[in-house]
Amino acid sequence: MNGKVIICGAGPVGLVTALRLARAGVSVCVLEKRETINVASKASTFHPPTLDILDRLGLLEPVRGRTRVVRAAQYRTVAGPFARFPFEMLADLTEHPYRVHVEQAEIARAALDALERLPHVRLLFGADVLSVESADGAACVRYWHDGREQALEADFVLVANGAGSALREQMGIGFDGKVYPGEVLRVITRAPMADFIPGLDGVTYLFDGNRSISLLEMHDCWRVILRPSDAALDETRRDRAWVEAVLRDVLPAAIAAPPVDGWDLYRASRRIASRYAVGRAVLIGDAAHVTNTRGGMNMNCGMHDGCVIANAVLRALESGDVAPVLAAAERRHRVGSTLLAERTDRSVGDLSHWAERVRAIAADPREARAFLVETSMLDMIDREDIDAI
Ligand SMILES: Cc1cc2nc3c(=O)[nH]c(=O)nc-3n(C[C@H](O)[C@H](O)[C@H](O)COP(=O)(O)OP(=O)(O)OC[C@H]3O[C@@H](n4cnc5c(N)ncnc54)[C@H](O)[C@@H]3O)c2cc1C
Repeated sequence: MNGKVIICGAGPVGLVTALRLARAGVSVCVLEKRETINVASKASTFHPPTLDILDRLGLLEPVRGRTRVVRAAQYRTVAGPFARFPFEMLADLTEHPYRVHVEQAEIARAALDALERLPHVRLLFGADVLSVESADGAACVRYWHDGREQALEADFVLVANGAGSALREQMGIGFDGKVYPGEVLRVITRAPMADFIPGLDGVTYLFDGNRSISLLEMHDCWRVILRPSDAALDETRRDRAWVEAVLRDVLPAAIAAPPVDGWDLYRASRRIASRYAVGRAVLIGDAAHVTNTRGGMNMNCGMHDGCVIANAVLRALESGDVAPVLAAAERRHRVGSTLLAERTDRSVGDLSHWAERVRAIAADPREARAFLVETSMLDMIDREDIDAI
């Protein structure tokens, strides 16, 4: 396939999208301002449609030994589960009726390795993109590399440079939204959580009154994700003892607190770009949308953006008409501003009400399946876009 695409940003979304395009024969140039990819621990949940995409790109096999396959999502109190959703119920809709927990950096590294083996791919690290312009028939970026400003032209530019994207602003695109109140504490424990709470599934939501804790099993540890109550927030004492106290405070009294082997604290926001495309330049991933991390949807949605936009770019390169890309960008904008934003919002509302709702859903097989389709993001990308890979 003749054609050239520039990708700004070598995060998981930029790299997976680059690989999709390069596998189809497009010449791809990835510009990344850092000297290496970011290996910080962030996203870990990969939903079924994302797994379908990654598998077709050959990105699951290389990370197989560092994953945890999760077969069901469990909602429970300390007394036991009140709802359990086996992903097998989705077997007719996906090649991967399960979730995989793996660090996003593992997938990014696998994509980078694959890209490095392709002759028509150029990977430039230490290249800070300064501006993106779209003109008739081409798009152009200016970037800083090797101590000087340089320019590069392509048929399309995909802007995948993360939530803080200055390029989005330079393209005249707004990024309105809100910061969710409070902070999120993510505790890592290497202890087997089943010793503390028997009968857990690899993703379990533990409810205690109006509070809830998420428990995620990784291949070598558990992540316990919670929102410290305001009273527990003490700016001056955020040390191990503080984390242990918060953990103790949010766990129901009947459960012993597991040892703390690491933690991080972050704030979550919800923001959606006012539009995704300006001519031949298109936002994908966190540059286009951010949400709270509960449900693990934001990066998955970014990978779906990349897949859908890449398919549209291939059609545009074939026909010489930019229209499929603009239409795909509008479709992804609708997914971001309605499905993604609303779905992630509802999981941080009144949780006692939410637990009751989930209990009722689980009792009705039709509702349970619809719930699983939504929480697995299967309604957020068309099957044809996955099958096109
Ligand atoms: C603690 C935590 C847990 C999370 N858990 C989940 C989860 O389970 N599931 C989920 O779906 N999401 C989750 N997320 C969100 C997920 O991490 C992000 O959605 C994901 O990193 C977005 O990927 P990206 O490639 O769009 O952007 P990024 O990962 O931000 O990558 C952008 C890249 O662009 C580069 N860049 C920036 N500016 C420039 C420039 N001017 N020129 C060149 N390069 C540039 C950056 O250096 C970076 O490498 C989580 C986030 C956090 C913080």
